[in-house]
Amino acid sequence: MKFSIFVAYKPFAMKKLFLSAIVLMAVISCKQQPAGPQVVAHRGYWDIEGSAQNSLEALRQAGEHGFYGSEFDVNLTSDDVLVVNHDFTFHDILIAENTYEAIKDSTLANGEVIPTLDSYLDLFCEYPDLQLVFELKSEGDSAYEARAIPLLIEKLEQRNLIERTDFISFSLTACQEMARRIPAMMVEYLGGEIAPAELKEMGINGIDYHYTVFEKHPEWVEEAHSLGMICNAWTVNKEEQITEMLDMGVDFITTNAPELAEQLIAGRSAK
Ligand code: MG
Repeated sequence: MKFSIFVAYKPFAMKKLFLSAIVLMAVISCKQQPAGPQVVAHRGYWDIEGSAQNSLEALRQAGEHGFYGSEFDVNLTSDDVLVVNHDFTFHDILIAENTYEAIKDSTLANGEVIPTLDSYLDLFCEYPDLQLVFELKSEGDSAYEARAIPLLIEKLEQRNLIERTDFISFSLTACQEMARRIPAMMVEYLGGEIAPAELKEMGINGIDYHYTVFEKHPEWVEEAHSLGMICNAWTVNKEEQITEMLDMGVDFITTNAPELAEQLIAGRSAK
C-alpha cells in the first residue's frame, strides 16, 4: 500500500515541480517584459493639486494611483549628491558645477525642497508594486558619468531596487556603461536615432523613444520585440497619440496623463 501511494505521489510531485518551474519562468519573464501595455507617469503624477514635477508628492501620487511605473530625472552635484530634477539647472544654478548646499533650500512649485535621490528611493520603497523609470541626466561627459553611475548603483543595490528599476538616458555612453555593469538591468536608450538591433549589440535591451520616432519607424516595434527588447514611447499625452501607440504595440506609455492612458487601455481590454 505504501509503495502504491509512493508510485502515485511521485509523478504528482514531479508534475507540481514542473508547474512551479513554469510559473517561476513566467514571473521572471514578466519582470523583463510585462504583459500588455503599461502606464508610466512622466516625472511622477504631477498634474494634480499639491503635486509638482519630480517631487516626492508626484512619486507618492503615482504609487497611490497604482500606475505601473513612475519616471524621474536625476542630476549630480559637484560634491557628489544625486538630486531629482529635470533640467541641468535648478533656479538658474547649474547643478553639476555647484554643491548640494547651494540648491538644497530652493523649492519646487508645490513648496517641497529639491529631493535627494536618497529621499526619493526611501519613499519609493513604500510602494512595492511600483516600477521606477530612472533617467540619468547627462551630456555624455565621461568624468561626470564615472562619478554618477557607481553612486546610483550603490544606492539602488542598498535598497534591493535593481530589479524594480528601468534605467534610461539620452547619453548612449551612460546606457552602455549601465548595461555593462549590470547586464540584468532593463536599460532603455532615449535618443531615438538608433535602430533596436544596433542597440542590442551594445548590450542595451530597450528603446524609449519619442512617439514621433515610432511614427517614422513603426517597424522598430516588431524589430525590438523580436530581439526581446522593450519599447517605451514618450511623452504621449493625448488620446489620439496614446491610441496610436497602443495600436503599434509599444510596451510602455510614458505620459503626463496617466489616468487617461489607464482608461484607454482598460477600454480596449474590455472589448
Ligand atoms: Mg525624464
